[in-house]
Amino acid sequence: MAQIIDGKAAAGRIRDLVKDDVDKFRSVTHRTVGLATVLVGDDPASEVYVTSKRRLSRQAGIEDHHRRLSADAGQDEVAAVIDELAEDDAVSGILLQLPLPKHLDSKALIDRIPWQKDVDGLTTTSAGLLARNAPGLRPCTPLGILALLRAEGIDLSGVSAVVVGRSELVGKPLAQLLLQQNATVTVTHSRTRDLATVTRTADIVIAAAGIPHLIGAEHVKAGAIVIDVGIHRSANGLIGDVDFEAVSPITSRITPVPGGVGPMTIAELLRNTIQAAKIQT
Ligand code: ADP
Repeated sequence: MAQIIDGKAAAGRIRDLVKDDVDKFRSVTHRTVGLATVLVGDDPASEVYVTSKRRLSRQAGIEDHHRRLSADAGQDEVAAVIDELAEDDAVSGILLQLPLPKHLDSKALIDRIPWQKDVDGLTTTSAGLLARNAPGLRPCTPLGILALLRAEGIDLSGVSAVVVGRSELVGKPLAQLLLQQNATVTVTHSRTRDLATVTRTADIVIAAAGIPHLIGAEHVKAGAIVIDVGIHRSANGLIGDVDFEAVSPITSRITPVPGGVGPMTIAELLRNTIQAAKIQT
């Protein structure tokens, strides 16, 4: 019987640690820790995410600097807000909520965030620091996955990890972090031939393709660990990239959706925010 990996509990423990760290930082440096969330437009899913990021930040003692722009805000207007936050000493981290409205150039706007405040780890500089294994801020979801595996006592050295998906946000940085932990890493994507043959070789399968129930029983070898990054609304509530019902009996451990990787992503955002504050002092 598979063991269900409790991301909610692990995330709660990380947030408690962050809160202690924020308290200590404030008493030692006499400075506050602040997170600026920038939301452009009124995408309902983005609104939900930003609201919970702000709520959990405040609970960890992080000051809330929220900026809301209308859906028709121009490139220069958004850039000016980011520049202002970049200059503001009370702002430790800047989070530009994605996706942005289509008329905006996301990459250019992300790259206006100084790497020291890049709590999503998505700027070109942060990507370069990750590629070079140099100190910097890493993307939150990959950090959350590694923290979850660490909390489970899983040693990644030498294990075969297959990452399904090569996005800038998840798959690509995750593959780099797993490599740094000495895993043997394979990355699959939309052009991969015979996905199941590849994923069946894995000790750990990490599904981050953004396709509901892409991973079925035929994709997983007996006793494997399965991490599900997907989150999709369906008639039966939230579901992942993994067909949990079919896959979980085969695995040794598996993350649920919701309550797996999702809460870990926000916990790592908070950890990146205190980390950013330290980098800046
Ligand atoms: P994410 O939320 O993980 O960043 P994206 O939608 O940005 O999701 O990226 C989806 C990724 O999943 C892409 O890299 C794409 O190549 C990959 N992908 C899509 N379909 C498949 C598939 N059938 N098998 C493996 N990978 C896939």
